[in-house]
Amino acid sequence: MQTLEDQTALVTGAGSGIGRGIALVLASEGARVVVVDLDGEDAAASASAVCELGAEAIAVTADVSVAGDVARAVRETVGWSGRLDIVASNAGIYPTAALEELDEPTWDRVMNVNVKGAFLLMQSALPVMRRQQYGRVVVTASITGPLTGVPALAHYGASKAALMGLVRGAALEVARDGVTINAVLPGNVDTEGAQAAGGPEYFKVMRPSIPLARFGLPEDIGWAVRMLAAPEASFITGTGLTVDGGQSLPEGGLTAERMEAVFTLGGAS
Ligand code: NAD
Repeated sequence: MQTLEDQTALVTGAGSGIGRGIALVLASEGARVVVVDLDGEDAAASASAVCELGAEAIAVTADVSVAGDVARAVRETVGWSGRLDIVASNAGIYPTAALEELDEPTWDRVMNVNVKGAFLLMQSALPVMRRQQYGRVVVTASITGPLTGVPALAHYGASKAALMGLVRGAALEVARDGVTINAVLPGNVDTEGAQAAGGPEYFKVMRPSIPLARFGLPEDIGWAVRMLAAPEASFITGTGLTVDGGQSLPEGGLTAERMEAVFTLGGAS
């Protein structure tokens, strides 16, 4: 696989968690990285971490749900490096609430950050990529929504399922311009956000349901993004890559323990 040298990547929500993991992996493969985050201090810290790998980086403080912020982030990227080869549209939020208790502002915020944020980023970045006749867009969706359902995250699942519709239609619009648009669908990933949302109890309960018997790491998603962002991935567009340690595979919610039991019953171990 070719390195990403001389390529510029813009990663949103890169101040922490999965976005930071994506930024570090792309940088380790040679890309210059624009770290975009709502939190300016976290963005600056991630940019420093990228520079420690020997790559170039800048930090941009921006809210992906605000059109002017997103347009400025793309302008600053092109002003800085003259290019925009890879966009990882990753910023997202996942507040939990049962549907009957979910208030309208929370629904709107989730849709604005998770869905409108990706739309705004595509709208600003795609003209640059079209001019280059080259680009790779990778959206962070989730298994929740596109593949599975989780109580208290129905609104979030709706936003992530919407992203898959966006990816498919947008991929067709730019298919003749050397630009591909795909999604990664992470399962449970150990991030600052997941720790804050779920806490230790959530991790304890979820871990046995993951056949590969561990939570994902931010860099696991980073490497999946790196694959879809490769020049060699030029025939992959409008699709999603599940990165969940097998969590969405088992029929009937087969947990690791139950899987063990099935193997034993079948004499396979
Ligand atoms: P996180 O909370 O650890 O990090 C998210 C980052 O995005 C933060 O730095 C935050 O400041 C930033 N951000 C939030 N709103 C923003 C906005 N409006 N504009 C710009 N930046 C903003 O979260 P994470 O777990 O790393 O999740 C990252 C993405 O991965 C999200 O889209 C999430 O839905 C998705 N995802 C996460 C998991 C998981 O288990 N952690 C699983 C599936 C999908």
